[in-house]
Amino acid sequence: MELSISSLAKKYNVLGVQVKAALKSLDLFDDSEVLDIDSDVLELLEESIKEIKKNNTVELTPDATPRDIAQALDVSQSEIQKLLITKYKVMATLTTSLKQSVIEKIFSEYGYNIVWEQPKPLNVKPVKKNPKSPSVKQIRPPIVTVMGHVDHGKTSLLDYIRKSDIAAGEHGGITQHIGAYQVHIPEGVITFLDTPGHEAFTAMRARGARVTDIAILVVSADDGIMPQTIEAIHHAQSAEVPIIVAVNKIDKPGANPEKVLAQLTEHGLVPEAYGGQTITCNVSAKTGQGIPELLEMICIQAEVLQLEAEPKGEFQGIVIESKLDKGRGPVATVIVENGTIKRGDVLAVGAAYGKVKAMLDYYGDSIKDAVPSTPVEILGFSSVPVAGELVYRYKSEKKARDIAEKHGQAVSDKMQKKGSRKLHLRDLKEQIATQGLKELKLIVKADVHGSLEAVNGLLDKIDNDEVIVKVIHSGVGSILESDVLLSSASDAICVGFNTRTEPGARSQAEKLNVEIRHYRIIYELIEDIHAAVKGMLAPKYEERHLGILEVRAVFDLSRHGMVAGCYVQSGKVNRDSLVRVKRKKELVFTGKVASLKHLKNDVKEMSIGQECGVQIVDYVGYQDGDILEIYEMIQIN
Ligand code: GDP
Repeated sequence: MELSISSLAKKYNVLGVQVKAALKSLDLFDDSEVLDIDSDVLELLEESIKEIKKNNTVELTPDATPRDIAQALDVSQSEIQKLLITKYKVMATLTTSLKQSVIEKIFSEYGYNIVWEQPKPLNVKPVKKNPKSPSVKQIRPPIVTVMGHVDHGKTSLLDYIRKSDIAAGEHGGITQHIGAYQVHIPEGVITFLDTPGHEAFTAMRARGARVTDIAILVVSADDGIMPQTIEAIHHAQSAEVPIIVAVNKIDKPGANPEKVLAQLTEHGLVPEAYGGQTITCNVSAKTGQGIPELLEMICIQAEVLQLEAEPKGEFQGIVIESKLDKGRGPVATVIVENGTIKRGDVLAVGAAYGKVKAMLDYYGDSIKDAVPSTPVEILGFSSVPVAGELVYRYKSEKKARDIAEKHGQAVSDKMQKKGSRKLHLRDLKEQIATQGLKELKLIVKADVHGSLEAVNGLLDKIDNDEVIVKVIHSGVGSILESDVLLSSASDAICVGFNTRTEPGARSQAEKLNVEIRHYRIIYELIEDIHAAVKGMLAPKYEERHLGILEVRAVFDLSRHGMVAGCYVQSGKVNRDSLVRVKRKKELVFTGKVASLKHLKNDVKEMSIGQECGVQIVDYVGYQDGDILEIYEMIQIN
């Protein structure tokens, strides 16, 4: 039945905002004044309204204006303005944001209590729920990522599976590479992500996206477990994604699948054959042997996981690949996570938005709609969406554009704030207190096996009631980009012992604000972790040279004190730099710059070749020819 917010407000003798709050509490509010709801939903709504009425609460955003207040209280705007001036001596226009304390007083004047609305994270308010058709959960296909060591057969396996789709029909298994595909087998449907490897998997996770339900770990039966196999295990485990092991290349003469099973147990994956929980399958990506069984096992595992979605619920998808196509414009492959997407729908994803002009499946065929777990290529976005971003549907293109523009602004604001806050060892204690952190996760890389074992062994012994030290991945070699991504995705710290960080990994770490620490002495490493866990890690500083200034004249500005007229010989000087005054190479004073002027103006920075006036805190004894060494101290832990 159709009902308006005002009619409900009248019926229960409450304010319109209180009806809206009740709708919000049921997740039914969508900005419209008229509702179309079933009688059972109406019952729930009535209950919620009565509850709100009992407490007489009004929900309001913290930056409310007189106009918002008038609207919420259903009184005239001039009445509120009059009240503000006469009673609270506040002169405010209709759009001035008021202090929370003033707003609270006004509402209590009318007999209401305020409940402050939490600001909503951008882009997470999706489309209207359809109250007419309460969503029904249905089993959805699992989304699978293939991982493993290089050359163990990940691509071959994906290719073979792709061709075994019984729904291929006239396509004969010839699919387009759109980032994911589906196979249909008698037991069900499986979605495979097309980019194998734990790097791609963790890169998505580092962006906050969780796409994979099951990981297939490919291990070659002739090579056995190799370093990247172990990495893949750790990456899947830290994401808490179940692993099915495909022991590949069993057609090869040197294949020894038994050895692989034994090796797996050493890495915490105990095969079913050994009494454990890990499903393993012997396969050959060359002959196809064992692959039907592998697919069957994936379906069984999916059943255990009870993967569900609401095909009629609100739409949410995730971008897994995107590009700018010369002929077609921005193209994004989206995996539907919930709801159903249709041609003509209006979407927003990150800073991109648009109407779905065309949708193509992995056979390159145009489709009209896509249900949960389906990968679809979507055309029609205003710009190229970023992989890993969530896609939502909106009622109008204007709304989608507004959301996208706000998101763009939010991203640039965030960039200015230098990325999101990640875990840092020095303020571990604070994070334990404020965020309830229970584990300190580490990724440890060392030069050789012996030292890695020694470090891991000692870390294992760190004993603390509050925080458990947990090494989520360790290995021999330098710190790589994949280590940094794993750190970011799992909120861990990278520790290197007698090793270095690859340049790509360093820049990635700066971008993602991931902490990397290097040590050459085991004892120091253990001490630091120990101290951090106890919240006693003292900050360490390092001096960074900034520049050299020569004093060429000294001025007495009487009331303003002595000023050294300087020439910047090299580097630069900042208004808050530290300084050492040297005379004929002898140190005469150490202090801090008090003021920096160019001619008569205060300046923030002067650099090589420029002349400036410098004053130093608590120092006046400058002489011609003095050298000012300029430096700063930066925290290094
Ligand atoms: P990836 O690096 O893990 O993606 O490995 P590829 O799929 O590229 O395979 C590496 C090599 O192993 C290729 O030469 C494949 O032909 C070969 N290969 C993959 N799977 C099998 C298999 O089951 N049996 C045999 N004999 N060779 C295989």
